[in-house]
Amino acid sequence: MAYKVINPFDGKLIREFPNATDSEVERALDEAHEFYMDAKHQPILEREKNLKKVADELRANVEYYAKVLTINMGKLYKESKQEVIKTAQFAEYYSKNGSSFLKSQPYEIPDNYSYVEYDSIGAIMAVEPWNFPYMQVMRVFAPNYLIGNPVILKHASIVPGAAQAFEEAIIKANLPKGAFKNLFVSYDQVNKIISDRRVQGVALTGSEQAGKILASEAGKNLKKSTMELGGTDVLIVLDDADIKLAVKNAVSARLGNAGQACTSAKRFIVNQKVYGEFIDGIISEFSKRVSGDPLDLKTTLAPLSSKAAQIKLKEQVDAAIAGGSQIIWGDTTEVDGSDAIFNPLIISGMTPNNPMYDQELFGPVAQILPFKDDVEAVKMANYSNYGLGGAIYSTDLERAQNLASHIETGMVAINQIMTSHAEIPFGGIKKSGYGRELSDLGIKEFANAKTILYR
Ligand code: NAP
Repeated sequence: MAYKVINPFDGKLIREFPNATDSEVERALDEAHEFYMDAKHQPILEREKNLKKVADELRANVEYYAKVLTINMGKLYKESKQEVIKTAQFAEYYSKNGSSFLKSQPYEIPDNYSYVEYDSIGAIMAVEPWNFPYMQVMRVFAPNYLIGNPVILKHASIVPGAAQAFEEAIIKANLPKGAFKNLFVSYDQVNKIISDRRVQGVALTGSEQAGKILASEAGKNLKKSTMELGGTDVLIVLDDADIKLAVKNAVSARLGNAGQACTSAKRFIVNQKVYGEFIDGIISEFSKRVSGDPLDLKTTLAPLSSKAAQIKLKEQVDAAIAGGSQIIWGDTTEVDGSDAIFNPLIISGMTPNNPMYDQELFGPVAQILPFKDDVEAVKMANYSNYGLGGAIYSTDLERAQNLASHIETGMVAINQIMTSHAEIPFGGIKKSGYGRELSDLGIKEFANAKTILYR
């Protein structure tokens, strides 16, 4: 059985889940299609109310849903509670704003009249990662449910408990059958679902490797897809930055979720004039972190999501060092044993000829490099195959905005942590993928923008 919950803190197997059978997949597709057809005749108001009910269920039982997250993938309990609340907020946001985003839009045309309406297209196959097990699913589910597209979920095989809990919230909120279905499916079954005529879209959040495979499956079947993939986001500190703020946010942006976020600040690029002060601040904050049981409120650095993730990160760090990088603070000796703890590390000297240069280090490993001026900072930031997010710290807003315009990513945050908000588009360019989630753009990704001409 591939779907297993193993507590990353002590390595204990909690539960295994059997794979879905082909007939369960078929039933899910039938029910999804039925929902799609029925939703066309139902007022959107109904779905707005239902989404709010899902949010209410999550808010009413935050502790329950949070504990599932921590046990499944090791997130700090406090962070798990924050994720449950944010997941509820995403549902509330679309419940409040979704219908206005879907209003028909008039288009001017000489001697004629025209408008575009936004219709549902069919079921969406959502393939989601373990790092934000509820939030990522809600980012796809809420807008699609509202428009009338049912969602079939294949969650990461290490968080089946979280996948089931998400479905439980949907069931408790009494959503109609077929609106959402979690399936413990194999990769082959995912491909079959993508090729099914009842499925019209593929939404992946995951790695570049999975992106290449699923985007080509979608392409082979001429199905629309969105790819929310990895990143090697920069955090640029200019010489006029508020260093205290930059340090505080850099530490949260690198160590939050044990460093396992797509938009974690993975490369700190610092003006040489403030390099020493910035590093001292980072070392001082990193050394305060206490690793341990993520359910223990005293723990401030969670384990990684699995033993496999810990071993992979150790191998990546070893390869970076062999390739010419240096550890300037921390060590990697504590990766033996059953837990998946990886203590924070700061490495420097990561140059483009290092084999790990463009690899996503998914854990609490900060890379740091100095630069001499803003032109060099932009060059270093953009020398990456990825293009997800990034952050700039400066007390001169105009200078920071000018720099932001030159950064080749889908998102840039100034003097704050790069994170998702329901109200603004989220997504990347280059090997970080394509398409946008959240905001008005998120609800239109899998909409049929249908043009109507009339006289
Ligand atoms: P992953 O290994 O790519 O897995 C993501 C999902 O894809 C899982 O459900 C996985 O299932 C599935 N999958 C992988 N290969 C597949 C295939 N050939 N066919 C069908 N399904 C397949 O990524 P991860 O390690 O779980 O997640 C971390 C990655 O996600 C990082 O790169 C991170 O940056 C990225 N991420 C991006 C965003 C964003 O919005 N841009 C947000 C969060 C995370 P199994 O678990 O069964 O392999």
